[in-house]
Amino acid sequence: MTNQAIGFSNPKPDEFQSGALITNANREIVYANAYFSDELNWTLNKLLGQSSDDLFTISSKIFCESYLMPLLIHEKKCEEMQLTLFDGNGKRVPIIVSAKMDEQNCIYWSFFNASKRDKLYEELIDARKELEDQAKTLKLMASTDELTGLMNRRELNLRAPELINQAKRYTHSIALLMIDIDHFKKINDAHGHLEGDRVLKALGQKFQKFGRQTDLIARFGGEEFNMLLPDTNKSDAKIFAQRLHQLMLGIEVNLTPITVSIGITMTDGSHSLHDLTNQADGALYEAKKNGRNQTEFYTET
Ligand code: GH3
Ligand code: MG
Ligand code: MG
Repeated sequence: MTNQAIGFSNPKPDEFQSGALITNANREIVYANAYFSDELNWTLNKLLGQSSDDLFTISSKIFCESYLMPLLIHEKKCEEMQLTLFDGNGKRVPIIVSAKMDEQNCIYWSFFNASKRDKLYEELIDARKELEDQAKTLKLMASTDELTGLMNRRELNLRAPELINQAKRYTHSIALLMIDIDHFKKINDAHGHLEGDRVLKALGQKFQKFGRQTDLIARFGGEEFNMLLPDTNKSDAKIFAQRLHQLMLGIEVNLTPITVSIGITMTDGSHSLHDLTNQADGALYEAKKNGRNQTEFYTET
Protein backbone atom coordinates (compact mmCIF):
# COMPACT_ATOMS: atom_id res chain seq x y z
CA MET A 1 0.00 0.00 0.00
CA THR A 2 1.29 3.47 -0.84
CA ASN A 3 0.39 6.57 1.00
CA GLN A 4 0.33 8.71 -2.15
CA ALA A 5 -2.79 10.55 -3.07
CA ILE A 6 -4.48 9.48 -6.29
CA GLY A 7 -6.89 11.19 -8.67
CA PHE A 8 -6.55 14.26 -10.84
CA SER A 9 -3.74 14.19 -13.35
CA ASN A 10 -3.89 17.97 -13.72
CA PRO A 11 -3.38 20.04 -10.58
CA LYS A 12 -6.70 21.56 -9.40
CA PRO A 13 -7.03 24.57 -7.16
CA ASP A 14 -7.03 23.59 -3.49
CA GLU A 15 -10.66 23.65 -2.29
CA PHE A 16 -10.26 21.66 0.93
CA GLN A 17 -12.44 22.88 3.80
CA SER A 18 -9.66 22.14 6.27
CA GLY A 19 -6.21 23.50 6.86
CA ALA A 20 -3.18 21.45 5.87
CA LEU A 21 0.25 22.39 7.09
CA ILE A 22 3.65 20.73 6.94
CA THR A 23 6.44 21.67 9.30
CA ASN A 24 10.04 20.49 9.11
CA ALA A 25 12.13 19.07 11.95
CA ASN A 26 12.73 22.65 13.19
CA ARG A 27 8.99 23.17 13.24
CA GLU A 28 9.20 25.73 10.47
CA ILE A 29 6.23 25.85 8.16
CA VAL A 30 7.24 24.51 4.74
CA TYR A 31 3.75 24.11 3.29
CA ALA A 32 0.34 25.63 3.97
CA ASN A 33 -2.71 24.98 1.80
CA ALA A 34 -5.11 27.58 0.43
CA TYR A 35 -7.39 27.24 3.46
CA PHE A 36 -4.91 29.36 5.42
CA SER A 37 -5.28 32.24 3.00
CA ASP A 38 -8.93 31.76 1.99
CA GLU A 39 -10.45 31.02 5.38
CA LEU A 40 -7.87 32.10 7.95
CA ASN A 41 -6.69 35.30 6.24
CA TRP A 42 -3.01 34.46 6.30
CA THR A 43 -0.68 35.56 3.54
CA LEU A 44 0.83 32.24 2.57
CA ASN A 45 4.28 33.70 1.89
CA LYS A 46 4.30 35.17 5.38
CA LEU A 47 3.56 31.78 6.87
CA LEU A 48 6.36 29.94 5.12
CA GLY A 49 9.46 29.72 7.30
CA GLN A 50 7.52 30.82 10.39
CA SER A 51 7.46 28.52 13.42
CA SER A 52 4.21 26.60 13.80
CA ASP A 53 4.35 27.55 17.50
CA ASP A 54 3.59 31.15 16.54
CA LEU A 55 0.22 30.12 15.18
CA PHE A 56 -1.07 29.07 18.58
CA THR A 57 -2.28 30.99 21.62
CA ILE A 58 -0.11 30.76 24.74
CA SER A 59 -2.24 28.09 26.42
CA SER A 60 -2.33 26.06 23.19
CA LYS A 61 1.44 26.44 22.89
CA ILE A 62 1.85 25.06 26.41
CA PHE A 63 -0.51 22.22 25.56
CA CYS A 64 1.53 21.48 22.41
CA GLU A 65 4.80 21.41 24.33
CA SER A 66 3.58 19.38 27.25
CA TYR A 67 1.24 16.95 25.57
CA LEU A 68 0.89 17.07 21.80
CA MET A 69 4.62 17.01 20.94
CA PRO A 70 5.55 14.23 23.39
CA LEU A 71 2.62 12.25 21.95
CA LEU A 72 3.79 12.82 18.39
CA ILE A 73 7.36 11.84 19.23
CA HIS A 74 6.17 8.74 21.02
CA GLU A 75 3.16 7.61 18.97
CA LYS A 76 3.98 9.41 15.69
CA LYS A 77 0.44 10.72 15.48
CA CYS A 78 -2.31 12.40 17.44
CA GLU A 79 -5.98 12.94 16.76
CA GLU A 80 -8.71 15.40 17.65
CA MET A 81 -6.78 17.75 19.89
CA GLN A 82 -8.65 20.94 20.63
CA LEU A 83 -6.41 23.98 20.28
CA THR A 84 -6.78 27.66 19.52
CA LEU A 85 -4.83 29.39 16.79
CA PHE A 86 -4.63 32.93 15.51
CA ASP A 87 -5.83 33.78 12.06
CA GLY A 88 -3.99 36.31 9.91
CA ASN A 89 -5.87 39.15 11.63
CA GLY A 90 -4.92 37.99 15.11
CA LYS A 91 -8.40 36.60 15.80
CA ARG A 92 -8.61 33.44 17.88
CA VAL A 93 -10.03 30.42 16.11
CA PRO A 94 -10.83 27.20 17.96
CA ILE A 95 -9.67 24.23 15.95
CA ILE A 96 -9.49 20.49 16.09
CA VAL A 97 -6.04 19.24 15.20
CA SER A 98 -4.85 15.89 14.00
CA ALA A 99 -1.19 15.46 13.16
CA LYS A 100 1.30 12.89 12.01
CA MET A 101 5.11 12.86 12.31
CA ASP A 102 7.29 11.14 9.73
CA GLU A 103 10.76 9.59 10.02
CA GLN A 104 12.42 12.97 9.39
CA ASN A 105 10.35 14.56 12.17
CA CYS A 106 8.32 16.55 9.65
CA ILE A 107 4.79 17.03 10.94
CA TYR A 108 1.68 16.89 8.74
CA TRP A 109 -1.02 18.90 10.43
CA SER A 110 -4.76 18.89 9.69
CA PHE A 111 -6.88 21.68 11.11
CA PHE A 112 -10.66 21.71 11.34
CA ASN A 113 -12.43 24.89 12.35
CA ALA A 114 -14.37 24.20 15.56
CA SER A 115 -16.07 27.57 16.02
CA LYS A 116 -19.52 26.15 15.41
CA ARG A 117 -18.79 23.11 17.51
CA ASP A 118 -17.56 25.31 20.35
CA LYS A 119 -20.65 27.48 20.11
CA LEU A 120 -22.89 24.43 20.09
CA TYR A 121 -20.97 22.96 22.98
CA GLU A 122 -21.33 26.17 24.97
CA GLU A 123 -25.04 26.22 24.23
CA LEU A 124 -25.25 22.62 25.31
CA ILE A 125 -23.45 23.39 28.58
CA ASP A 126 -25.73 26.39 29.17
CA ALA A 127 -28.81 24.29 28.43
CA ARG A 128 -27.61 21.55 30.75
CA LYS A 129 -26.93 24.04 33.55
CA GLU A 130 -30.38 25.54 33.07
CA LEU A 131 -31.99 22.09 33.18
CA GLU A 132 -30.03 21.19 36.29
CA ASP A 133 -31.12 24.43 37.98
CA GLN A 134 -34.71 23.75 36.96
CA ALA A 135 -34.49 20.20 38.28
CA LYS A 136 -33.14 21.52 41.59
CA THR A 137 -35.96 24.06 41.82
CA LEU A 138 -38.56 21.45 40.93
CA LYS A 139 -37.13 19.01 43.47
CA LEU A 140 -37.22 21.73 46.12
CA MET A 141 -40.76 22.68 45.17
CA ALA A 142 -41.85 19.05 45.23
CA SER A 143 -40.36 18.45 48.66
CA THR A 144 -40.90 21.75 50.46
CA ASP A 145 -43.94 23.48 51.85
CA GLU A 146 -43.90 26.94 50.34
CA LEU A 147 -45.38 28.82 53.28
CA THR A 148 -43.32 27.44 56.14
CA GLY A 149 -40.20 26.23 54.35
CA LEU A 150 -40.53 22.87 56.12
CA MET A 151 -40.55 19.61 54.20
CA ASN A 152 -43.99 18.61 53.01
CA ARG A 153 -45.92 15.44 53.69
CA ARG A 154 -44.69 13.83 50.47
CA GLU A 155 -41.05 14.32 51.48
CA LEU A 156 -41.74 13.01 54.97
CA ASN A 157 -43.31 9.90 53.47
CA LEU A 158 -40.19 9.42 51.34
CA ARG A 159 -37.68 9.91 54.12
CA ALA A 160 -39.38 8.44 57.17
CA PRO A 161 -39.02 4.72 56.27
CA GLU A 162 -35.22 5.03 56.30
CA LEU A 163 -35.27 6.45 59.85
CA ILE A 164 -37.72 3.81 61.01
CA ASN A 165 -35.51 1.07 59.54
CA GLN A 166 -32.48 2.53 61.25
CA ALA A 167 -34.30 2.44 64.58
CA LYS A 168 -34.91 -1.25 64.04
CA ARG A 169 -31.34 -1.97 62.93
CA TYR A 170 -29.66 -0.11 65.79
CA THR A 171 -32.37 -0.94 68.38
CA HIS A 172 -33.18 2.67 69.06
CA SER A 173 -36.62 3.95 69.80
CA ILE A 174 -38.11 6.64 67.67
CA ALA A 175 -40.95 9.09 68.37
CA LEU A 176 -43.57 10.44 66.02
CA LEU A 177 -45.22 13.66 67.15
CA MET A 178 -48.33 15.07 65.56
CA ILE A 179 -48.79 18.72 66.44
CA ASP A 180 -51.97 20.66 65.74
CA ILE A 181 -52.58 24.33 66.45
CA ASP A 182 -55.52 24.85 68.81
CA HIS A 183 -58.52 26.79 67.53
CA PHE A 184 -56.65 27.92 64.50
CA LYS A 185 -59.87 28.55 62.64
CA LYS A 186 -60.70 31.24 65.20
CA ILE A 187 -57.41 33.01 64.44
CA ASN A 188 -58.30 33.08 60.77
CA ASP A 189 -61.84 34.15 61.47
CA ALA A 190 -60.90 36.91 63.92
CA HIS A 191 -57.71 38.25 62.33
CA GLY A 192 -57.82 37.15 58.72
CA HIS A 193 -56.17 34.48 56.65
CA LEU A 194 -52.96 36.49 56.28
CA GLU A 195 -52.50 36.58 60.03
CA GLY A 196 -53.10 32.83 60.05
CA ASP A 197 -50.39 32.47 57.42
CA ARG A 198 -47.99 34.56 59.50
CA VAL A 199 -48.56 32.25 62.47
CA LEU A 200 -47.92 29.16 60.36
CA LYS A 201 -44.74 30.68 58.99
CA ALA A 202 -43.48 31.71 62.44
CA LEU A 203 -44.21 28.24 63.74
CA GLY A 204 -42.34 26.64 60.84
CA GLN A 205 -39.28 28.80 61.52
CA LYS A 206 -39.32 28.02 65.23
CA PHE A 207 -39.64 24.29 64.56
CA GLN A 208 -36.80 24.41 62.06
CA LYS A 209 -34.45 25.98 64.61
CA PHE A 210 -35.67 23.80 67.42
CA GLY A 211 -35.13 20.37 65.87
CA ARG A 212 -31.91 18.41 65.59
CA GLN A 213 -30.26 17.86 62.23
CA THR A 214 -31.52 14.29 62.13
CA ASP A 215 -35.15 15.08 63.00
CA LEU A 216 -37.70 15.11 60.23
CA ILE A 217 -40.02 18.07 60.66
CA ALA A 218 -42.84 18.43 58.19
CA ARG A 219 -45.96 20.43 57.59
CA PHE A 220 -48.41 17.59 57.33
CA GLY A 221 -51.23 19.79 56.05
CA GLY A 222 -53.24 22.85 57.14
CA GLU A 223 -52.21 23.67 60.71
CA GLU A 224 -50.80 20.20 61.43
CA PHE A 225 -47.14 19.35 61.76
CA ASN A 226 -45.38 16.02 62.13
CA MET A 227 -42.01 15.38 63.68
CA LEU A 228 -40.10 12.14 63.53
CA LEU A 229 -37.39 12.08 66.18
CA PRO A 230 -34.84 9.30 65.80
CA ASP A 231 -32.94 7.87 68.78
CA THR A 232 -35.51 9.26 71.22
CA ASN A 233 -37.08 7.40 74.15
CA LYS A 234 -40.38 8.15 75.80
CA SER A 235 -39.02 10.45 78.51
CA ASP A 236 -36.95 12.35 75.89
CA ALA A 237 -40.10 12.75 73.81
CA LYS A 238 -42.03 14.00 76.83
CA ILE A 239 -39.41 16.67 77.59
CA PHE A 240 -39.28 17.57 73.92
CA ALA A 241 -43.07 18.08 73.83
CA GLN A 242 -42.97 20.22 76.98
CA ARG A 243 -40.40 22.44 75.35
CA LEU A 244 -42.59 22.68 72.26
CA HIS A 245 -45.48 23.92 74.38
CA GLN A 246 -43.13 26.53 75.89
CA LEU A 247 -41.96 27.51 72.44
CA MET A 248 -45.50 28.58 71.58
CA LEU A 249 -45.24 31.39 74.15
CA GLY A 250 -43.10 33.13 71.54
CA ILE A 251 -45.86 33.22 68.92
CA GLU A 252 -48.60 35.65 69.82
CA VAL A 253 -51.78 36.71 68.12
CA ASN A 254 -53.18 39.93 69.51
CA LEU A 255 -50.84 39.60 72.51
CA THR A 256 -52.08 36.07 73.30
CA PRO A 257 -49.72 33.14 72.71
CA ILE A 258 -51.04 30.38 70.49
CA THR A 259 -51.20 26.86 71.85
CA VAL A 260 -50.83 23.44 70.29
CA SER A 261 -52.00 19.95 71.11
CA ILE A 262 -49.59 17.08 70.58
CA GLY A 263 -50.11 13.35 70.04
CA ILE A 264 -47.06 11.11 70.37
CA THR A 265 -46.39 7.51 69.56
CA MET A 266 -43.20 5.53 70.16
CA THR A 267 -41.77 2.66 68.15
CA ASP A 268 -38.75 0.38 68.09
CA GLY A 269 -38.94 0.48 64.29
CA SER A 270 -41.42 -2.35 63.93
CA HIS A 271 -44.28 -0.12 62.77
CA SER A 272 -44.96 1.47 59.42
CA LEU A 273 -45.24 5.24 59.07
CA HIS A 274 -48.87 4.73 58.21
CA ASP A 275 -49.58 2.90 61.50
CA LEU A 276 -47.55 5.41 63.49
CA THR A 277 -49.45 8.30 61.91
CA ASN A 278 -52.77 6.73 62.89
CA GLN A 279 -51.53 6.14 66.43
CA ALA A 280 -50.23 9.71 66.85
CA ASP A 281 -53.48 11.00 65.38
CA GLY A 282 -55.44 9.02 67.98
CA ALA A 283 -53.28 10.45 70.77
CA LEU A 284 -53.74 13.96 69.35
CA TYR A 285 -57.49 13.45 69.38
CA GLU A 286 -57.23 12.56 73.09
CA ALA A 287 -55.17 15.71 73.78
CA LYS A 288 -57.84 17.83 72.07
CA LYS A 289 -60.60 16.04 73.91
CA ASN A 290 -58.88 16.57 77.25
CA GLY A 291 -58.88 20.33 76.80
CA ARG A 292 -56.10 21.15 74.28
CA ASN A 293 -52.69 22.76 74.97
CA GLN A 294 -51.32 19.41 76.13
CA THR A 295 -49.59 16.22 75.05
CA GLU A 296 -50.92 12.67 75.02
CA PHE A 297 -49.04 9.47 74.28
CA TYR A 298 -50.62 6.71 72.27
CA THR A 299 -51.49 3.60 74.31
CA GLU A 300 -52.65 0.22 72.98
CA THR A 301 -55.96 0.56 74.78
P1 GH3 B 1 -58.73 22.44 66.82
O1 GH3 B 1 -58.27 23.08 68.05
O2 GH3 B 1 -59.76 21.40 67.05
O3 GH3 B 1 -57.59 21.93 66.01
O4 GH3 B 1 -59.46 23.57 65.98
P2 GH3 B 1 -58.93 24.28 64.67
O5 GH3 B 1 -59.75 25.46 64.43
O6 GH3 B 1 -57.46 24.49 64.75
O7 GH3 B 1 -59.15 23.14 63.60
P3 GH3 B 1 -60.00 23.10 62.29
O8 GH3 B 1 -59.62 21.82 61.62
O9 GH3 B 1 -61.46 23.31 62.61
O10 GH3 B 1 -59.52 24.31 61.41
C1 GH3 B 1 -58.28 24.38 60.84
C2 GH3 B 1 -58.19 25.67 60.08
O11 GH3 B 1 -56.91 25.86 59.49
C3 GH3 B 1 -59.18 25.74 58.94
C4 GH3 B 1 -58.40 26.23 57.77
O12 GH3 B 1 -59.00 27.29 57.10
C5 GH3 B 1 -57.10 26.67 58.38
N1 GH3 B 1 -55.99 26.53 57.46
C6 GH3 B 1 -55.53 25.42 56.86
N2 GH3 B 1 -54.47 25.72 56.06
C7 GH3 B 1 -54.24 27.04 56.19
C8 GH3 B 1 -53.30 27.94 55.61
O13 GH3 B 1 -52.42 27.58 54.83
N3 GH3 B 1 -53.37 29.25 55.97
C9 GH3 B 1 -54.31 29.69 56.84
N4 GH3 B 1 -54.31 30.98 57.16
N5 GH3 B 1 -55.23 28.88 57.38
C10 GH3 B 1 -55.20 27.57 57.06
MG1 MG C 1 -56.22 20.22 62.33
MG1 MG D 1 -56.21 22.82 64.89
